[in-house]
Amino acid sequence: MSDTADDVVRREVSKLLRVEYRGKFMCASCLLKFAVERFGTTLYTRGQIERALDTIFRSPGALRRVHRFVCDQCGKTLPCLTATPARSGLSA
Ligand SMILES: [Zn+2]
Repeated sequence: MSDTADDVVRREVSKLLRVEYRGKFMCASCLLKFAVERFGTTLYTRGQIERALDTIFRSPGALRRVHRFVCDQCGKTLPCLTATPARSGLSA
């Protein structure tokens, strides 16, 4: 068995939020758009990607889910995911 859609989507979303969108907040629909653009729908269907994101939102693991926040992509106030760690006091 190779990686499931969950594994692959989680890995890409984590990478996105740590590197390209470092410090940004992304809602589920923007993450879905990103994932569909990145993977296309040949490897996994849009529904599989959607379900994978749903799972990530329910158990974000190393990522952080915020209940309501302004999405950096679409500007709507929605539940978002971010890789920003809890305030450490290290930022200026
Ligand atoms: Zn959004």
